Amino acid sequence: MKHTLKDSQGGCLCGAVRYELTEDPMFIQACHCLDCQRISGSAFVMNMWTEDSNLSLLGEMPASYKAKSGSGNVHEIFYCPHCITDLWSKYYVGLKGSVFVRAGTLDDTRNVKPVVHVFTRSKQQWLTLDEEQKTFEEFYNPFEVWSQESLDRLVALKANQ
Ligand SMILES: [Zn+2]
Ligand SMILES: [Zn+2]
Repeated sequence: MKHTLKDSQGGCLCGAVRYELTEDPMFIQACHCLDCQRISGSAFVMNMWTEDSNLSLLGEMPASYKAKSGSGNVHEIFYCPHCITDLWSKYYVGLKGSVFVRAGTLDDTRNVKPVVHVFTRSKQQWLTLDEEQKTFEEFYNPFEVWSQESLDRLVALKANQ
């Protein structure tokens, strides 16, 4: 059976901000960069990369703050104004119209499996990834990694900018 996250819901710790993914995300990746480690207080963050149109907000509007990413570009992190759970990020350079939803905020995370691991140059040394996992010291070119189905969606997104 193919795992799917379609119609999956998630939200923050207190439940004020809720969302639904109306389709599967384009891609799921784990980021081991130092910023993700700091923000999450953990070893890495799992991001579901999807179109804005695939993320429907069910609860309150999240608040946001802007931060500089490792590449020096500004990204905006959306969080619950009550319990301060980070829910998703938006990047404004090259990735307009899409969003990185924190996979750990889904109600049911059992079907979440990252396809690639990025910024593994700062991966925690005790963490061993199995050989199936694709790893990148920094980032990668989606055209060399993603399925055709996901690439079609990425191309459609860029065509609409
Ligand atoms: Zn909350
Ligand atoms: Zn990161």
